[in-house]
Amino acid sequence: MAQLLLGAPAARALDDITAVSARALSVAPTLACIRVGDNPSALSYECALYKRADTCDCSVRSFVFEESDATTSSLIDTIKTINADPTIHACLLFRPLPCGIDERAVCETLDSSKDVDGITALSLSGVFTGEAIGFAPCTAEAVVHMLEHYEVPLEGAHVCVVGRSLVIGRPVSMLLQHKNATVTMCHSKTSKLAQLTRSADIIVAAVGRAGFIGANMVSPNQTIIDVGINWDERAQKIVGDVNFAEVEPIVRAISPVPRGVGSLTTSMLMHHVVLAAKRSCAQ
Ligand code: NAP
Repeated sequence: MAQLLLGAPAARALDDITAVSARALSVAPTLACIRVGDNPSALSYECALYKRADTCDCSVRSFVFEESDATTSSLIDTIKTINADPTIHACLLFRPLPCGIDERAVCETLDSSKDVDGITALSLSGVFTGEAIGFAPCTAEAVVHMLEHYEVPLEGAHVCVVGRSLVIGRPVSMLLQHKNATVTMCHSKTSKLAQLTRSADIIVAAVGRAGFIGANMVSPNQTIIDVGINWDERAQKIVGDVNFAEVEPIVRAISPVPRGVGSLTTSMLMHHVVLAAKRSCAQ
């Protein structure tokens, strides 16, 4: 039976570190949260954020727009206000934004020092160079934290990342390279994908296709991190990108969905909020 890499213990350990750092600051680390409309998954994530902020001694301020009121310029103005407010250290923008809004222009208005979820080009340049410019996308960093929490060796390991999006695949590949892993980044045009995944020590699945990684793509002694969140209409539940029933009996360790990486994302976000506050105090 494979070891289950649950997100909650890793999240608790990170929250403890974050709360200690937050209490050591002379300011209350504060996150601004911009939401357009009342999409249920955004509402539930926002609710989870408030709870996590409480655990980590941080504050959250919501900026909410009706879909009919939100325009590119109203969102840009709000972000400019947040950039200029020294009592706000960080900002999370719920995406995707409604059609007709220039999402890139809105994202790029955010000051990278407050960009705690890696949505600006400057933050992504920091991920690329390894310099402390902005922050990596939280989910990508949560993957690395999960592996480190469960003491999965990264140095010299061969990691196969399936997916190359700017939110997960690419940043997680760079972050793992900074940990001295050897990374193969795969995508929809990769040939002999199963051969590559089978040869890896670690597979990170960020494909966005339910049960994509099956028994034919894994081998014994591997660690599998499943980042996927997919709604299975037939089973009426959330499932990952890994076919858990097929893969779990073969591999050494696997993160489940739900209760895996997803449980760590808000903790990583609060960790970034406190770091952003700390950096602003040091200026
Ligand atoms: P995305 O932007 O759709 O990217 C999917 C990636 O998978 C693309 O790079 C694509 O390749 C690749 N891909 C698609 N079909 C493939 C195939 N047949 N073989 C190999 N690669 C293939 O998705 P994303 O935003 O990265 O999200 C990935 C998953 O993570 C989704 O299930 C999403 O819901 C989940 N997610 C989880 C969290 C969390 O907190 N746990 C947060 C965000 C997202 P191409 O580039 O060639 O198209």
